[in-house]
Amino acid sequence: MKLVWFRNDLRTGDHHALYHACQDNRGEGVLAVAALTPHQWILQDEAKSRVQFWLANLAPLKTELQALNIPLLILQVESNQQLPAEMLALAQKHKVTGLYFNREYPEYERIRDRSVKQLFEKQSIPCLSYESDLIIAPGTVLNKQGGAYKVFTPFSRAWRQQFLTQLPQPLPVPEVQNLVAVNSSLIPKSIPYELRSGADWSERLWPAGSEAAHQRLYRFISSAVGRYSVERDLPACTATSSLSPYLSQGVITARQSITALNSFSDDPDWFESQWMTELIWREFYRHLLVQYPEMNRWKPFKPEVEKRLEWSQDEKLFLAWSRGETGFAIVDAGMKQLLQTGWMHNRLRMITASFLTKILRQDWRLGARFFMQHLIDGDFASNIGGWQWSASVGADAAPYFRIFNPTRQAERFDNRGEYTARWLPELAGLSATEQHNLKVLQQRGGLLPIVDYQQERQHSLAIYNRGKG
Ligand SMILES: Cc1cc2nc3c(=O)[nH]c(=O)nc-3n(C[C@H](O)[C@H](O)[C@H](O)COP(=O)(O)OP(=O)(O)OC[C@H]3O[C@@H](n4cnc5c(N)ncnc54)[C@H](O)[C@@H]3O)c2cc1C
Repeated sequence: MKLVWFRNDLRTGDHHALYHACQDNRGEGVLAVAALTPHQWILQDEAKSRVQFWLANLAPLKTELQALNIPLLILQVESNQQLPAEMLALAQKHKVTGLYFNREYPEYERIRDRSVKQLFEKQSIPCLSYESDLIIAPGTVLNKQGGAYKVFTPFSRAWRQQFLTQLPQPLPVPEVQNLVAVNSSLIPKSIPYELRSGADWSERLWPAGSEAAHQRLYRFISSAVGRYSVERDLPACTATSSLSPYLSQGVITARQSITALNSFSDDPDWFESQWMTELIWREFYRHLLVQYPEMNRWKPFKPEVEKRLEWSQDEKLFLAWSRGETGFAIVDAGMKQLLQTGWMHNRLRMITASFLTKILRQDWRLGARFFMQHLIDGDFASNIGGWQWSASVGADAAPYFRIFNPTRQAERFDNRGEYTARWLPELAGLSATEQHNLKVLQQRGGLLPIVDYQQERQHSLAIYNRGKG
């Protein structure tokens, strides 16, 4: 019997490990397992909403697997340390002859997989791992010198070329297997351990399961993808796909998304579209994680830039930022969206991250951990990549020290103040300019700014330039 280990790949379609286990099992049947590791979740800063959503996605997965005669077992262990032995015991109990899983890229996951593989292979049970999450394997998109790309645009060009050469297609759902005499486990509704505060997963906002993910994808492609390049930066519009929680837990794949884009979009230039580019950003950050392992250890991609900066350790400033109480309306609105829903619009992720690192001069690692602890789509590679980029210490960072002015950003991307008013109702009815006007803020009972923007901006630039000299 073959055993398939499900992690952040909670689907049956386009699942390489499942597909190959079903092909290899010669009628002996296939078993599936998902491991709950609460201590690991805490250690790796997983948000409450993310864990809840992951658990919720197990139920539709179990149903999909049942239709294939594959029982889903649940293994409960404290952390990755106990996992190899417990997984082996489960495999031996069921006389498993092969363990199948899809690769994951962050170092914690790679160390976990290596330990499991070593233990299994000592017992002569082969472990087979597959590339399924990424469309193009890390380490294969290389520049002319055979090195990894450090800048996004040439990477995306080379990536697109490889895509056209390989024309990757999603794998189908495997065929129904011979029944095995094992019952599926009950899926716990919640995990009895102290989860951090933060938003609960909302079934209304993020219905669980692949079917819901595919419906969302088709709705986006048929109605919004045409407006994406114009509206994706306007947080008051629902112009982006909001597929990130599904992509980060592998409920749907980027390959399936691109295939659907090709099949259902009216845009003849779909291949060069901005939405496709965003999916390539996702690949870029995963490639970087594999090729620059230091990033896994919270080291900046550009240590030479970080050396020029001075992080101030001011708990009061960090707390104000994390609670959405900075007095900068657009920043606070973004943080309220995160705290109340577990998700934040991309433009706001950039504005809030720039504000924390460039105006409050707090270490980007603090912000990145806080995001991971609160995001339903928390994803190590994209989060570290996004934070390092925002702090100017990452790959593809601008050659100058870019500081987002929150007031200008609000005027540009939320000029009627709609997004801000949604999350700060006390400011409803005010334009972006008014929302940042001190007098109006005082009248409306809004918070006053915790720092002087221009002064802090000058100070940050001076530090950066001094370091340069
Ligand atoms: C500081 C910071 C932290 C971030 N943390 C995360 C994170 O933890 N998890 C996460 O999935 N994304 C993260 N992002 C990227 C981006 O903000 C989200 O992917 C996006 O907002 C999700 O919304 P959507 O699904 O509607 O995206 P769409 O605009 O519809 O894009 C489609 C998909 O492409 C991918 N994508 C889009 N933009 C990016 C990007 N800049 N980098 C990498 N992938 C991208 C996502 O998988 C997304 O679902 C971060 C960005 C920043 C600036």
